[in-house]
Amino acid sequence: MINFQYIRTTTSKAAVDSLGKDKTAKFIAGGTNLVDLMKRGVTAPEKLIDINNVPLKQIELKGNILHIGALATNAAVAEHAVVKQRFPLLSQALNAGASAQLRNMATVGGNMMQRTRCGYFYDITMPCNKREPGTGCGAKEGYNRMHAIFGTSEACIAVHPSDMCIALAALDAQVVIMNPKGERKISFVDFHRLPGATPEKDNNLQANEMIIRVEIPLNTLAENSYYLKVRDRASYAFALVSVAAGLELKSNRIIKVRLAMGGVAHKPWRLTEAEAFLTGKDATEVNFKLASEIALKGSKSFGQNNFKLKLAPNSIIEALNQAKSKA
Ligand SMILES: Cc1cc2nc3c(=O)[nH]c(=O)nc-3n(C[C@H](O)[C@H](O)[C@H](O)COP(=O)(O)OP(=O)(O)OC[C@H]3O[C@@H](n4cnc5c(N)ncnc54)[C@H](O)[C@@H]3O)c2cc1C
Repeated sequence: MINFQYIRTTTSKAAVDSLGKDKTAKFIAGGTNLVDLMKRGVTAPEKLIDINNVPLKQIELKGNILHIGALATNAAVAEHAVVKQRFPLLSQALNAGASAQLRNMATVGGNMMQRTRCGYFYDITMPCNKREPGTGCGAKEGYNRMHAIFGTSEACIAVHPSDMCIALAALDAQVVIMNPKGERKISFVDFHRLPGATPEKDNNLQANEMIIRVEIPLNTLAENSYYLKVRDRASYAFALVSVAAGLELKSNRIIKVRLAMGGVAHKPWRLTEAEAFLTGKDATEVNFKLASEIALKGSKSFGQNNFKLKLAPNSIIEALNQAKSKA
């Protein structure tokens, strides 16, 4: 057994101060990902800072913005009345993830920070540039059925595993972050990164920073939104491909559309070109198909995941049809 120090904090400031004092320290929230990684030897923090007593569990509409604290559980967010009514896409995405027991423990901050499910990352006997930079990527010519088709690099073809984050990317959310100097805010779509030459970095959170909350502006997509998750089993499985789709329709005309995909890239993959194409057009099968072709531009597969080149556009069309039919 590897020894580590364990401390509890009750304020975000104390948590951030404590993190800054020790380079290998990590926050622990629900523990549903971090503990697995520690057991497998993927990570070995010398100090765990338990942040569960920091008061960041709020789910509250303030004016036109929904504030969700970093320690709100996935279950609490998914079942919250305002989320279900005004942001059903988020509720659906959360309920598509993991299992009821896991959602009761998993937190919003932890979900954003969860690591990839690439088998080479979890197996410490295998090469993996994300786990150990410079060792190579086992997946490129190995088992890559679950892997990315967009934004890959020579160093890494892993995908970001969260469902919640795909909905948040589609919903124009912002992330509020605390560091020793105060708070900063970034767009959710800029929080996670593409792998490039530094796949060990999943996101743009600095080593001395903590996620405080997520903010989502009210929108006009609630009536016509749908989260489609295609997976190997009906529950308790990560997405092969997922699509978060939200439409604002007037008659059959698309006034506004938001689209993001999961299971296809190292970060939630927002389909801005497809959105631009669809805006102002009629919500028809033909336009959905054209949008899906635009979305697939630049995609690349690696053998076992060739099927995603067909599954991804079909999923976009299906998610848009489902969103439209909610009216
Ligand atoms: C069997 C299984 C199936 C799963 N299936 C799915 C699925 O289908 N879809 C899905 O989306 N997820 C799935 N998950 C993942 C699950 O959602 C994540 O494990 C969970 O969301 C992580 O949250 P946590 O609070 O437990 O994080 P922890 O394990 O406590 O922490 C994870 C990381 O986040 C960091 N962290 C936590 N809070 C903060 C903060 N406020 N600021 C900065 N850093 C922070 C920690 O330091 C750690 O590095 C599954 C997990 C398991 C074990």
